[in-house]
Amino acid sequence: MTAGPRRVIITGGAGFVGSHLADAILARGDEVLCVDNFYTGQKRNIAHLHANPYFELIRHDVTFPLYVEADEIYHLACPAAPIHYQRDPVQTLKTSVHGSINMLGLAKRLGVRILQASTSEVYGDPEVHPQPESYWGNVNPIGVRSCYDEGKRAAETLFFDYHRQHGLEIKVARIFNTFGPRMHVNDGRVVSNFILQALQGEDITLYGEGDQTRSFCYVDDLVAGLLALMDSRQGFCGPVNLGNPHEMTIRALAETIIEAAGSRSRLVHKPLPADDPQQRRPDISLAENELGWRPGMDFKAGLQETIAYFDALLAEG
Ligand code: NAD
Ligand code: UDP
Repeated sequence: MTAGPRRVIITGGAGFVGSHLADAILARGDEVLCVDNFYTGQKRNIAHLHANPYFELIRHDVTFPLYVEADEIYHLACPAAPIHYQRDPVQTLKTSVHGSINMLGLAKRLGVRILQASTSEVYGDPEVHPQPESYWGNVNPIGVRSCYDEGKRAAETLFFDYHRQHGLEIKVARIFNTFGPRMHVNDGRVVSNFILQALQGEDITLYGEGDQTRSFCYVDDLVAGLLALMDSRQGFCGPVNLGNPHEMTIRALAETIIEAAGSRSRLVHKPLPADDPQQRRPDISLAENELGWRPGMDFKAGLQETIAYFDALLAEG
């Protein structure tokens, strides 16, 4: 395709990250073709975009082939929260494997760049800390998280084989825990869970002792990283970690959210889910050197934005 606005496909564009990415791409003057089957996506995430003539929506399951024209493809379609991806694990694996094959086939026919939203879960329960991209991971191939972890690992394999075999221009982002407005209210992810519990004065559910760690990145920072990766120099494929190295225990997260929400909720303990990684923090030197990217949003400021979002949602009823 030629000059003028670029047409950008976002699979999973009605999801949490995809809808923020759509906002950013439209804001720079390009067109967005959002491809989503609404498995975990929400119409409210993209409701504000329907009047925009540069925005188009196709309800489509990426496990089936797609025939459209575009200039580049961001491939995000895949449920990301453990309770969602474990609800129909076979479909999760199909989405990663068949979905990637279909989108890679589309990119090959069009001769365009394609970016894969991979994950820190490819490192499993890591024995190397923080995690550099060179670490191959410690993943259980037959556990309850495997449909997601192994699916994403297989998708990375497919991306690199299409690159080696067909010369396709690929970009692989390994995304670490991200939070912000438009997270799904029922996805059980820790930031949204704790905020909803805190705002409603319910007990905050710490799984295990709460001494496992995660490192949380605000969604706007992640989106900036995805855009920088897509526009990175020809031949740079990644994989590249995108996340915020600001690591904390889940207990500390709970205490910070209670304070930020002005809540009187108490901490209660629940069993630790199977294969729950004990620690996670990205080494982002590659992203800094190659993309000139690093997250800038202050964690507490991002939390306030997210609390305000859920507060408004609860007020709607
Ligand atoms: P999300 O669940 O909000 O969004 C995923 C979107 O993909 C949804 O809109 C869903 O309806 C759509 N989808 C799922 N299966 C599909 C299918 N078969 N066909 C078409 N659409 C389908 O999740 P998210 O947090 O926005 O994550 C987006 C991507 O980023 C995912 O690929 C996820 O694995 C990756 N990622 C996210 C995080 C994070 O912390 N949010 C971390 C690591 C990786
Ligand atoms: N977690 C928790 N309470 C909750 C939800 C999650 O203690 O209500 C923990 C969970 O066990 C994990 C961490 O928070 O150790 C992050 O969980 P999430 O599902 O958000 O993401 P992931 O495990 O995929 O990083």
